[in-house]
Amino acid sequence: MSDKLVQPLNPPRRVLMGPGPSDTHARVLAMLGAPTVGHLDPYFLTVMNEVQGMLREVFETKNEMTLAVSGTGSAGMETCVVNLIEPGDKMIVCINGVFGGRMADVAERAGAQVVKLERPFGEVFSADEIAAAVKQHNPKVLGIVHAETSTGALQPLEEISKVVHAAGCLLLTDCVTSLGGVPVKVDDWQLDAVYSGTQKCLSCPPGLAPVTFSARAVEVIEKRKTKVRSWYLDMSMVRNYWGQSRAYHHTAPINMNYAIHEALRLVLEEGLTARHARHKRNHGALKAGLKAMGIEYAVAEGFQLPMLNAVLIPAGADDVAVRSQLLNEFGIEIGGGLGPMKGKTWRIGLMGETAQPRNVLAFLAALDKCLLDQKVNLPSGAGVAAANAFYRGA
Ligand SMILES: *Cc1c(COP(=O)(O)O)cnc(C)c1O
Repeated sequence: MSDKLVQPLNPPRRVLMGPGPSDTHARVLAMLGAPTVGHLDPYFLTVMNEVQGMLREVFETKNEMTLAVSGTGSAGMETCVVNLIEPGDKMIVCINGVFGGRMADVAERAGAQVVKLERPFGEVFSADEIAAAVKQHNPKVLGIVHAETSTGALQPLEEISKVVHAAGCLLLTDCVTSLGGVPVKVDDWQLDAVYSGTQKCLSCPPGLAPVTFSARAVEVIEKRKTKVRSWYLDMSMVRNYWGQSRAYHHTAPINMNYAIHEALRLVLEEGLTARHARHKRNHGALKAGLKAMGIEYAVAEGFQLPMLNAVLIPAGADDVAVRSQLLNEFGIEIGGGLGPMKGKTWRIGLMGETAQPRNVLAFLAALDKCLLDQKVNLPSGAGVAAANAFYRGA
């Protein structure tokens, strides 16, 4: 026996206002400590059924093939890509941020002939340019990110869905950050393959990736000529595990499924409309506060994500020093910029449980202190006052 035992963990309590993970509700955390049952125990089969049912409600879909992939959001991305793509298939990937770039990498590894459609970070794609691209390239799949967490931009999908389908192409969407924070209407918008993650606006610890496939996408999967290039993420086998036959494929992370079960219950208890409105309201207050402090958004008005506020770091402020002070002095985590935005933006998350007035007000007050300590010239106190005025409806 070792004479010096490693001490038990004692994780600090943070306010998670970064790009994810977000704060988790105590009810969700408690589920991680519930008794683990066998993965083919009839009790767990009920859990799986209920998770699938609630995921359909949150995705606003009737899609049969809707489940939680074992793995984080990126596993959801890989699941959607590898199941739809066969080597040599053409796929357009829209890149206006880090996650579009990741999707292109995943598609290339899956053997796709990838056409990259690019826009500067922070901008979004128009339906017209997508229409022109699908006409020119005639791809099997077009992949696009709904909420680009790296830039804070919201990509409208409805019109794009129409032009993509008019060209006979499948639409694959990254809804990792959007699900639970803004509407994701899978059936109304006719999205064919959609993936998300648990630790953004669903406010569950990271570990599962909700996915859903339309009937059109399932047909493409069923007609594949080659095996899916990932054994673990092959939906033709995973679907039998989550479906009626319950054939063993891999062991589902039991307690993570308990946790998402409770997280989804919380989402539906609040109601999608109320939840989306709460994200919008707290974003409005944060924005009013930041504006009063002279801090500008990095994304154009009308396309700003409510759950991920990317703002330009004010002149004279040290990116890393401010973020460290926020964490060490106030226990508040925010994110720095990614890719070309590194050192230029802060990413302030208001995802799921985190989107509360108490966090908005505490953050604005704490940021005020950090900037004053760095002798950044700002109207001290103006941020909190403006956010309060917003909440009061003034
Ligand atoms: C977080 C995120 C991912 C990746 O999810 P992980 O859980 O980190 O694997 C993919 N796309 C977007 C838009 C994200 O925000």
